[in-house]
Amino acid sequence: MQLRQTEKYRKAWFGSLMLIAISVMLIALLPETCAAARRNVKNVNSEPILRVKMGGNHTGFKVTFPDGGWLQNKRGRKTRTFRKGETFNWGLPGKRGRRVEYRGESIYLFGNKDMVQLNKNLYRGHLQADITDKGARIINHVGIEDYLRGVVGSEIGSLSPPESLRAQTVIARTYAYASRNKHGSEGADVCDSTHCQVYKGVSAERATIDPAVQATRAIIMISDGEPITTLYHASCGGMTSDNDKVFGGAPRSYLRRVVCPFCRDGTNFRWTRSITAAALSKALRKEKVIFSRLYDAEIEAPQPMDRVSNLVLHTDSGIHKVRGTTIRRLFNLPSTTFVLGNRGLTREIIAAAIPVKKHEPQNNSQKNAIMIAALVDDASEGPAQLMILTASGLKRTLRPEEGWQTIGLYPAGDTVPGSAEPFSPAQIGTRARSGTAPLVQLEIFGRGYGHQVGLCQAGTIEMGKRNWSYRQILAFYYSNVALRSLDY
Ligand SMILES: [Zn+2]
Ligand SMILES: [Zn+2]
Repeated sequence: MQLRQTEKYRKAWFGSLMLIAISVMLIALLPETCAAARRNVKNVNSEPILRVKMGGNHTGFKVTFPDGGWLQNKRGRKTRTFRKGETFNWGLPGKRGRRVEYRGESIYLFGNKDMVQLNKNLYRGHLQADITDKGARIINHVGIEDYLRGVVGSEIGSLSPPESLRAQTVIARTYAYASRNKHGSEGADVCDSTHCQVYKGVSAERATIDPAVQATRAIIMISDGEPITTLYHASCGGMTSDNDKVFGGAPRSYLRRVVCPFCRDGTNFRWTRSITAAALSKALRKEKVIFSRLYDAEIEAPQPMDRVSNLVLHTDSGIHKVRGTTIRRLFNLPSTTFVLGNRGLTREIIAAAIPVKKHEPQNNSQKNAIMIAALVDDASEGPAQLMILTASGLKRTLRPEEGWQTIGLYPAGDTVPGSAEPFSPAQIGTRARSGTAPLVQLEIFGRGYGHQVGLCQAGTIEMGKRNWSYRQILAFYYSNVALRSLDY
């Protein structure tokens, strides 16, 4: 009995202790809970508003209000209201001397449900029109998250895997956030064209993209505390490039060369083009490079299968250097990373190369191979043999019947691994021909599509399919970066 009473007393004592402990914990948690509740209330910290310049100078425009709306002047006074579906038309007067409506003013057009239609496209947010006697500049004021809904689909296909879409969304948000005031002299942050990011408003929104925007809400990529320059391209073709090697300027720690095995199955991983000497001569005439006979062509590049700095042409009018970017532009090449089909390899080099049977099974060393030259027997038939550089040395092989999937890219360095004879990579695969007979045609073998700096989109799509998270995808292509959530 005595014992049981003591036990009861102990239980009561323990109970009250627990109560006190729980109260203390609750009090400790209270401020956190309040802060969490505050964060959940919309617009306590509202998302940044982006000012998007819509097109160039408008000599006329039409705004439709799907749910009704109003026009407001600079001082914030409502001067006109519109019924559901009503339209506001503005245009420069046809005849000179006629009064320009709202000349010298800024007018604001609001929709009742925060949506207005400019000409044919529907946009979230509201519009501002700065009117002069030459026309109107139109700016869409829109929340950054709503803006992204109208952007991401134009930057990467909306049918891409969810994590790939999220990676692209973080890129687009980082770009938008870092580009505030980029068009400051025009009273805007960004424009709606490829100069900044293509933005088509509600018409570009997709059911697959909205969840990617929501899942990454407020998240941007930073390096050294600053939003990064989020460069990306369609396909790197096996390896991305350092920013300074492509665009010049200072090297950025987060835009470093990355070996990418993921874009292999995408388009333009490898590509070939033939350019006749006649077409080259004709196209270069516009660049003030005049010749009629081409005897030799060679490439200047930091290393094989790297971006071409110059194409050096030996012609009847002397030696001309043409920038790789110029050749890319003139012939609409997917990238400036290419080598030339090579008829100038010496017998010794070919003899030193290890022959590979046409149907030899793939192995790892071959998967990491880099094609350095194509030996062309007959220009009309394309390359019959290819010289490839593998982890186990230089190899020679017949042209495969189908695509060249076994050829990847040797990831590193300027040296030729395991090669029987040392030779300078610059001597191989960079020269079209030596000799006295004029060249008829250049065979070009390239990799990748775009500038090849930053994120590779073809790789991103493949990584998404393989269930990499968007954080992993971004960390793979951008070095030394962190994700940060903006406070809204
Ligand atoms: Zn722009
Ligand atoms: Zn890639």
